[in-house]
Amino acid sequence: DASNELANDPPIQLLGRITTVKELLATGLFQNEEIIYTQKSGERKKLEGRIDGLFYRCSCHNEVMSASKFEKHAGCTSHNQNDRIMLWGEQSLHAIVAYLKSLGSAEEQLAAILELKKKNEDRKASRDQG
Ligand SMILES: [Zn+2]
Repeated sequence: DASNELANDPPIQLLGRITTVKELLATGLFQNEEIIYTQKSGERKKLEGRIDGLFYRCSCHNEVMSASKFEKHAGCTSHNQNDRIMLWGEQSLHAIVAYLKSLGSAEEQLAAILELKKKNEDRKASRDQG
């Protein structure tokens, strides 16, 4: 029975619809996921890190910082850090929130988040296979 695998995890539920990056991070569903700071999608990465609570931890110093500090640490300045912080190097946090906002209910958002996470796991798995 495949459901046994998840038996120890509490059921995942969103407290409400996600409308901001802060709310996205507050779900905890992206805890410890890889991020990179880049000027725009496809460009060479400037800084790697991971999501840590509502903040970002750089991989070079293991230091937890805000989005604006993470950006400064990458040697950049902008007014839209969340457009440049890319989850898994794929999509900016802002783009993910915009996508989630286009969905109707918190349940649909949760399903979409789990789908994103699964796609990433699949990508990682196929990458690891060579
Ligand atoms: Zn650092």
